Amino acid sequence: MSDLFELSDQAVHTLRGVGPTLAARLATLGIASIADLLLHLPRTYEDRRLLRNIASLRVGESAQIEGEVVAQRSLSGRRPGLELILRDEGGEILLRFFNMRAGRSYAPELGARLRVYGEVRAQGQRLTMLHPQIEHDSRLTLLPIYPLVEGLRQGHLRALITAALRQLDGDDGLRIADWSLHGALHYLHQPPPEADLALLNRTRHPAQYRLIVEELAAQQLALLRHKQAVQSQAAWRLHADEPLQQRLLTTMGFTLTAAQARVVTEILHDLGRGRALQRLVQGDVGSGKTAVAALVAAQALQAGWQVALMAPTDLLAEQLYDKMHRWLTPFGQSPAFLSGRITGKARRQLLAALAQGEQGLVVGTHALFQAEVSFQRLGLVIIDEQHRFGVGQRLALRDKAPAGHEAHLLVMTATPIPRTLAMSCYGDLDCSVIDELPPGRQPITTVVLPQGRRDELMQRLRTSCRQGRQAYWVCTLIEASDSLQAQAAADCHAELCQALPELRIGLVHGRLSGEHKAEVMRAFAAAELDLLVATTVIEVGVDVPNASLMIIENPERLGLAQLHQLRGRVGRGQQDSYCVLLYGSELGATGRQRLALMRQSQDGFFLAEQDLLLRGPGEFLGTRQAGVIALRIADLQRDAELMPAAHTLAQQWLQLPASELSRRHRLWQGERARFARA
Ligand code: ADP
Ligand code: MG
Repeated sequence: MSDLFELSDQAVHTLRGVGPTLAARLATLGIASIADLLLHLPRTYEDRRLLRNIASLRVGESAQIEGEVVAQRSLSGRRPGLELILRDEGGEILLRFFNMRAGRSYAPELGARLRVYGEVRAQGQRLTMLHPQIEHDSRLTLLPIYPLVEGLRQGHLRALITAALRQLDGDDGLRIADWSLHGALHYLHQPPPEADLALLNRTRHPAQYRLIVEELAAQQLALLRHKQAVQSQAAWRLHADEPLQQRLLTTMGFTLTAAQARVVTEILHDLGRGRALQRLVQGDVGSGKTAVAALVAAQALQAGWQVALMAPTDLLAEQLYDKMHRWLTPFGQSPAFLSGRITGKARRQLLAALAQGEQGLVVGTHALFQAEVSFQRLGLVIIDEQHRFGVGQRLALRDKAPAGHEAHLLVMTATPIPRTLAMSCYGDLDCSVIDELPPGRQPITTVVLPQGRRDELMQRLRTSCRQGRQAYWVCTLIEASDSLQAQAAADCHAELCQALPELRIGLVHGRLSGEHKAEVMRAFAAAELDLLVATTVIEVGVDVPNASLMIIENPERLGLAQLHQLRGRVGRGQQDSYCVLLYGSELGATGRQRLALMRQSQDGFFLAEQDLLLRGPGEFLGTRQAGVIALRIADLQRDAELMPAAHTLAQQWLQLPASELSRRHRLWQGERARFARA
């Protein structure tokens, strides 16, 4: 007899009857320990509380019946088996079993009472059940139905769980809404007949809440502990340099919006505490996050720290580099660039300069995280478009700071994270929001057009470009490889070049070399191109204010958040801007609904919430993030309302001794965390 925490250290093969084959099957369900088995909850329950009269059965329904075996006959031939006739007070039914024979010990005998559950069929005039389940349990109750894998039957899994429940003893004393952990597990695996079936099947039963809240809390605990560990270390203090900030704004050529100014103040306040900044800045596309990053970076560099600025793709890193170069070089802080394509001598020299502290600012891709990159005095790390990186990568940054110090961390994202998800993915970060766009931005008119009007659209494109506007044409493919995407964009480019010979048309996609991409982007930014055909590589961060027309082909293939990001590439200058969603022929009802939402709303937060509802968190966050938040029981979307309770619980747990916390972490995330890493 052990408690659940102890059972998480007991391998499932210590249960009687679990050999290597079965253990391997259980492992594919994420079950390695006896505790894992107990946390494998039913996905639904069947109502076995009722016994039906055989006379009342209708063909097609599933029902439970009980009666006396009044006839019995072995079947020979191709499918040997057994036929029984079962009789109750009102009627008779024929039951057929395969691979079961009269005279065998497990076959019911003549005169035996038998309870079975199955689907009612007709054979001529006669009611039959084909291979019904024989119910050995004498109680009439709710039957748990578990998620299974090939080669594992419900009955078998149920028996294993019953055996595991017998080993479960003692309780952790924590009650949530009156339920203890153990009480909830017993209840959910073996619900009493009076249990509320409707609540259970909607995962709205308090016993289910008990486990969900605990799981969500355990998941948040990991991030909160990380935060606590970081905050327990010293970090360098930065004294705000007001004159420097003013001079930089003069170089940039604008004044901050009130929202930007507020966020800069929040960041500078954190940087002055002597504890590491751990802050997430959310701001819709075009809200001016890069400007905020530059203002903070400049002051950190001035103080003598090294600063690393990271973006998810080469293209974005290059754009970021260009901006930093333009804004910070006049202050003697020219940035260096690092990505996978910087190789050989140039790379060695840069790595040496970073290690010796001769290079202050470096802008790059995730190449910055690699083990070979070291810094002499890294003070501040800024990550742009964080949602493209995994949580693990963010946490790994701690290793780059000088011994005994924490580096400050600023994370920026244009994908608004609904609050409930934010707690799960960013529980270690404080949050700032830039909820205002710079003045003079033009609203974007969104138009939804069918492919049938493509020619008309091309005429309109020609006219616009003649008037000096620039446009994007984005090609989309579902789950296609880089090379297929590139091919689609190349085909589209060829078609447009032929149809619109007087326009200067560029092409950019993920298969081009970094230099080639950078050159095309430069030409487009310098208005040497009228039209840019692109894959979704331009989704985030690309900034060309003169571009005022965005055409997205087959927008039904993308999520709302992604469409919103793409649309945000226009509406950055003074001109009226348009976004044309050119949909394919087969647009279903949801597709229509989604495009209508795009037409109605330009509110990134609203669209993100809708996207989450329509597509679920896995799609919304991308696999990297979703892998980290693999949950057994809870569902981030369905259980969003429980998140605040989980958050409160996680915060209470933080006060517990470390050994206690590790126990909980191991119970809930031990095996899962190992899966997520694989
Ligand atoms: P984000 O990264 O949030 O999408 P950027 O920082 O790229 O936005 O800013 C978008 C554009 O707005 C850039 O051209 C930038 O120079 C400009 N910008 C930023 N802040 C302001 C401001 N306060 N006033 C005017 N223009 C601004
Ligand atoms: Mg940006």
